[in-house]
Amino acid sequence: MQIDRNITLLVLSGVTALALILTLGTSLSHSRRVELRENRFLQTIEKYKQMGLLENDLVIDGTLRYRLSLATLDYSEEKTFAVVKSELKKQQALMLQEPHNVERLLSFKEYVTALASRMTANSVFNGRVSVNEVPQKNQLNILFLSSDPDHILTGFENISCAFTGTSNVVLCNSKTVSRILDDFDHASENFSTAIATFDSSGSLTIDSLANGDILKQLLKQNFLTWLLGHEIGHVILHGNKVSSGSRPLHFDFVYDAKEREADAFVVHAVRADNTLQAAFPVILLEFIEQRYHKIYQEQYGSSAMVFPARNLPAEIISITATSYSMPLLVRAMRLMDQSIHDNPKALNQATYSVIDGRLAYVGSYKFTDYYEFLKTRVTILEKPSIQSSKIAIYLLTFGVAIALALLIHSQLLRKKSRRI
Ligand SMILES: [Zn+2]
Repeated sequence: MQIDRNITLLVLSGVTALALILTLGTSLSHSRRVELRENRFLQTIEKYKQMGLLENDLVIDGTLRYRLSLATLDYSEEKTFAVVKSELKKQQALMLQEPHNVERLLSFKEYVTALASRMTANSVFNGRVSVNEVPQKNQLNILFLSSDPDHILTGFENISCAFTGTSNVVLCNSKTVSRILDDFDHASENFSTAIATFDSSGSLTIDSLANGDILKQLLKQNFLTWLLGHEIGHVILHGNKVSSGSRPLHFDFVYDAKEREADAFVVHAVRADNTLQAAFPVILLEFIEQRYHKIYQEQYGSSAMVFPARNLPAEIISITATSYSMPLLVRAMRLMDQSIHDNPKALNQATYSVIDGRLAYVGSYKFTDYYEFLKTRVTILEKPSIQSSKIAIYLLTFGVAIALALLIHSQLLRKKSRRI
């Protein structure tokens, strides 16, 4: 008996040791694989940099100039117009006193760096942002590539930006991003944005139609904030989950819980920054209206009755959404819902900027109640994703196959019993 017990113990410890060695070996080879992949990735980026594939200056239409807002002004209903005007005058005086407040146009690289630095200020990447440099492992690295000849990111040709999961790298396809931004040049109307400027005599002019170029530029800047903020959100929120080598996380394509979290990150990061928070929801409403208008025209041929639509009978547009095809309008509306949830006065803000040498402020002349009305003019048809319908088809096929097999089996048994 004693010998038997010893043998059992020996076998058990042998099996345990073998399992330990196997587990350790597998995890070591896994981390070795990850390290090798990272090194290969960094070498490729180094090579791309030498080949001139990193785009430091994204030329979109040759006229785009990037501006950062100077400050935020809250003009919620409690303030009278006279108060708002006097605040603006004070800002103008400050601007004239301080030369650094004079309009500064940023290059594309400077703008992306400023945007990413502000959005990561409350994270481990505070002060650790690099744009179009060979990535460092403890930094947030944003890369705009014109092409990816070595295929470091699958499907590069079709993506705008993606978090690769390697060395905190966000890869963007500069051609796709340019194409998306170019689309904003078709914005010919202004639906909710107002730009107010002081003229030389000090009187305030509010221009609801605004300068078309400024509107397009603001829409482009806001979309970049969303796009990059979304990917930065993936790096900060999902960095550990993706680094283990699963699929990269994109801005486009599949829209699941992780995507919703990354979009929500944009709203929170923007809200935490004084100069970003005022501009984002205001221009987002303009974006929503631009999209709404386009779909309305597609569905009803004309949109003459829609804006301003508060008391007019407008038709309701319907949009189909699945997790494999999530229209930007639906996503933008979720961003707006989150913005208003976090700050009910999100649309009652204006952002100061120096435009063409003059202090200007950009705000919305439509507020939360208008947005709530607009929401009643949209029906979102949420359809099950292809994935779940595929599973349903598999299950159905499986069920039918089993039923058939049972039927044949019972028929055979019957024949057999008849023969007997
Ligand atoms: Zn994403």
